[in-house]
Amino acid sequence: MRIAELYASLQGEGLLAGTPSVFVRSSGCNLRCRWCDTPFTSWQPVGTERDAAEIAAAVATHGLRHVVLTGGEPLLPGDAARVCAALRSGGGHLTVETAGSVLPPGADPATLADLISISPKLASSAPPAETPGDWRRRHDAARRDDDVLALLLSAPAWQMKFVVGSRGDLDETLRWLDALEGRAGPAGLPRRRVFVMPEGVAPERLDAVTAWLRPAAEAEGVRFAPRHHIAWFGHRRGT
Ligand code: SF4
Repeated sequence: MRIAELYASLQGEGLLAGTPSVFVRSSGCNLRCRWCDTPFTSWQPVGTERDAAEIAAAVATHGLRHVVLTGGEPLLPGDAARVCAALRSGGGHLTVETAGSVLPPGADPATLADLISISPKLASSAPPAETPGDWRRRHDAARRDDDVLALLLSAPAWQMKFVVGSRGDLDETLRWLDALEGRAGPAGLPRRRVFVMPEGVAPERLDAVTAWLRPAAEAEGVRFAPRHHIAWFGHRRGT
């Protein structure tokens, strides 16, 4: 797996917000979100190939129980399941952050991670039509696969996080949840595990979206999730 960065910080989003964690950020993505906040893993991917044992050893040097495998799209590389197994072998807690559009060969959502954190990409995430590399079409074709999502939602523990910038985005989120209802595991699709997060990285933009999104989320029965890490550390790598 190609690794862009590996560092210790605090989880900034979702059910485990505030938890000290080691972040393993893979490089490479099958999508090209127009607002991607880690373009060094998608639009201009960087990083070094490391095998599962090397990654697990580097993580162990930080001495933290919680590990987050993120990206890019960490379920894209062929060795993703091996890396997950290595990261779980020490008995700690592994979160895998994925857009939920791909599953690697041999991956069993039941054992892949302790928490699967799924961030499906809405239609508004598409890059401009004139983007070189035919990325508008490729992004639109790849961003939503409800069969993959249904498999991931069968995992024992999951959360969903949608990046929302407009009321239209929130409405699309709610329609998508309705479409997935009944395809999740026996526990269904409880809305307390569904977060909506404001789109943006500039404080002014985050504040503007938060002002309407927080009450709208509450009214719709899903959870609002601040992007704590931007408030804590600013928008910069290694945090
Ligand atoms: S899925 Fe994530 S890493 Fe890939 S382009 Fe979108 S925001 Fe960036």
